[in-house]
Amino acid sequence: NTLLSVNNLCKTYTAAENRISALKDITFDLNRGELLVVMGTSGSGKSTLLQIIGALDSPDQGKISLNGVLQDKMFMEPYATQYRSENIGFIFQSFHLMKDLSVEENIALPLILKGASGSEVKGKVNEMLDLVGLTSWRKQRPMQLSGGQQQRVAIGRSLIMRPPIILADEPTGNLDFNTSREILNVLIEMKEQLNQSIILVTHDANVAAYGDRILFFHDGEIVDTYVKNTEEADM
Ligand code: ADP
Ligand code: ADP
Repeated sequence: NTLLSVNNLCKTYTAAENRISALKDITFDLNRGELLVVMGTSGSGKSTLLQIIGALDSPDQGKISLNGVLQDKMFMEPYATQYRSENIGFIFQSFHLMKDLSVEENIALPLILKGASGSEVKGKVNEMLDLVGLTSWRKQRPMQLSGGQQQRVAIGRSLIMRPPIILADEPTGNLDFNTSREILNVLIEMKEQLNQSIILVTHDANVAAYGDRILFFHDGEIVDTYVKNTEEADM
């Protein structure tokens, strides 16, 4: 049931005279329909990991396979862009919405850029507005929405192309406790309704608790793994 295999990733940054090992031999799998949490303090390598899995940055060493196929060109353009658009949806702490576009236009944007027909855009956007609970807000601009609603827009946009993997970097970092809970429940719903695979990065244990599995990062290494007891969770 493995979707993504990450094998022996290493990444070193050179800043001034210093070499910083951001990732040291990271290996793990992501299963289909799994919410995998990467938890660690600031500087532990979480964002670097997501950037590499999202082909926004390249590793010094290591391999990534998707559906058992080695992605040996994913860090080279034009393959990187293709890999990203076919496989990855991003969600960030700051929502990165287009402020001059309405909710529905923001969600539609990836489809429109791909050249989808008007009727396809309409159908898929309606379905997504319903999924993220924003049908009544479809004509609003992002600035007219709460932070939680803005993040729902970003989730809708990240999912509209139905990418196999969602990468979420501190998606609740700008939200209060209750709104964070609401957004995490939206992600859980995507997992359950769409069998969506998600990698979520956080420093917050309250957020990490939503994961099916938690990888604990420290100084670029996986120092511990926690697997939720599914029997217990089903009770
Ligand atoms: P986290 O997301 O867990 O906060 P990061 O992946 O951002 O961690 O960073 C891991 C380490 O790599 C940190 O020591 C950070 O300072 C360093 N680092 C990250 N990006 C760069 C960069 N572009 N240049 C130099 N060092 C970097
Ligand atoms: P946050 O609000 O979670 O801190 P950032 O804007 O810092 O999010 O984004 C996290 C990382 O992803 C940054 O290193 C940034 O360069 C990169 N990033 C942000 N937005 C985009 C984007 N739209 N496309 C590609 N990379 C992005």
